[in-house]
Amino acid sequence: MKGLKYYIKDSLKNHYAIGAYNFVNMEMLKGICEGAKETNSPTIVSVSEGAFKYMDENFVLGLYNSALKSYKDIPLFLHLDHGKSFEMCKKAVDLKFKSVMIDGSSLPFEENVAVTKKVVDYAHAHGVLVEAELGVLKGVEDEVSASENIYTNPLKAKEFVERTNCDTLAVAIGTSHGAYKFSGEAKLRFDILSEIEKNLPNFPLVLHGASSVPQKYVEKINRYGGDVKGAKGVDEKLLTKACKEHNIYKINTDTDLRMAYIATLREYIKENPTNIDSRKFNSLAIEEIKQLVIEKNRCFNNINRI
Ligand SMILES: [Zn+2]
Repeated sequence: MKGLKYYIKDSLKNHYAIGAYNFVNMEMLKGICEGAKETNSPTIVSVSEGAFKYMDENFVLGLYNSALKSYKDIPLFLHLDHGKSFEMCKKAVDLKFKSVMIDGSSLPFEENVAVTKKVVDYAHAHGVLVEAELGVLKGVEDEVSASENIYTNPLKAKEFVERTNCDTLAVAIGTSHGAYKFSGEAKLRFDILSEIEKNLPNFPLVLHGASSVPQKYVEKINRYGGDVKGAKGVDEKLLTKACKEHNIYKINTDTDLRMAYIATLREYIKENPTNIDSRKFNSLAIEEIKQLVIEKNRCFNNINRI
């Protein structure tokens, strides 16, 4: 089977992006795999540091290896999302993750360069790819938080890649982590993205905080006792544009999967007060996540790419 390196090149050449979907349990991972199987899409399955602690390394690897066996024809790549230290990234490399992200974006530039370079040297010696980040995204994602959006500086991006030798770069162009992304109209700074691409021709870039927060889930969560009023995400048309017209090779999705999951559970539990069998609502959640991943892969132009 072709590796992640092949699909990174292929995604830039054929103008699609690979969905990087976060999972925290078997149900989410299964839903993601079912969706990927339906659209025949190479797929990145991500574990954040928080999810890593929640499941522990044996469950993470156990679930991932089980998915590889159950979905033999689908290229599934295990990725560490937002590794905050060399030690965490080293652990993921030693556990044979396919790629790791070192997120030094909240550090001063020189410190970000230093820690990223250290991770790259170690990971490359073990055949593992490294995603780095420059510029800070607004919002909250596990232990990552930032109150102001700082866009990626295109000239600094070039210097950063040259000095660290990272394989891919997460850029900040106006996306934001979490369910409350925009108070007004969602704007992505495609002008900044184009400048980055001029400075780094053909270099694979990553979009974080790119959940679209489908209103059907917001509505359902609120209808069944939740309170996520006003939650809003990125317009999917903008994401498709980023895949087709720019060098975005990977789009992270976490919030939307959580919302699909919790909306399904809330509805079922409220409508079926006598049920005590978790398989009932978890089966529905797997199906909902599957449908969401199919929609996402369409949005990312990632159909029949295997
Ligand atoms: Zn992120």
